[in-house]
Amino acid sequence: MQLANDAVYQTHYNILNVKEDASPEEIRASYKSALLTSHPDKLQHTSQTNADHNETQTRFLEIQTAWEILGDVKSRALYDKDLRLSRQEDVIADEVELENMTVEASGDVVELFYQCRCGDYFSVDSLELGEMGFQLSTENNKISLNAHNSVDMASVVLPCGSCSLKIRLIINSCPHP
Ligand SMILES: [Zn+2]
Repeated sequence: MQLANDAVYQTHYNILNVKEDASPEEIRASYKSALLTSHPDKLQHTSQTNADHNETQTRFLEIQTAWEILGDVKSRALYDKDLRLSRQEDVIADEVELENMTVEASGDVVELFYQCRCGDYFSVDSLELGEMGFQLSTENNKISLNAHNSVDMASVVLPCGSCSLKIRLIINSCPHP
């Protein structure tokens, strides 16, 4: 089934036959040439079965949709993000231990930061960690993370606030064996 899905699944880039890092000019050019080969009006002179016609219509709509998304910088950026998420191919830039995180406390919430190479930060706070089943404590000015369930070691993947990089925060629930 997975194979069939993959075969059917097409990105907007596939549909316009451009690379995913194509420039706006390249995308526009591909869109225009795709239109030439698919526009229903252009194909009316050829005799077609209904099935062929529907296929042409579908292809035309796919191209239009792809262009509407990829032709606009903002919607393309959003689409790229979705695409990365759907593939889960974000790069784990680093594995980071708790001690390497910058700690900032504001009220009851403790936030952990780690700077990304893009200049923004990977971050997570104690509330989010709590939801994931980890208890962050700052007793005696010493920060520690404990898993609610008894796992010796766990990790949490943190996304960068700006780019697609992620880090893996290694959580060792028994740091002093
Ligand atoms: Zn980044």
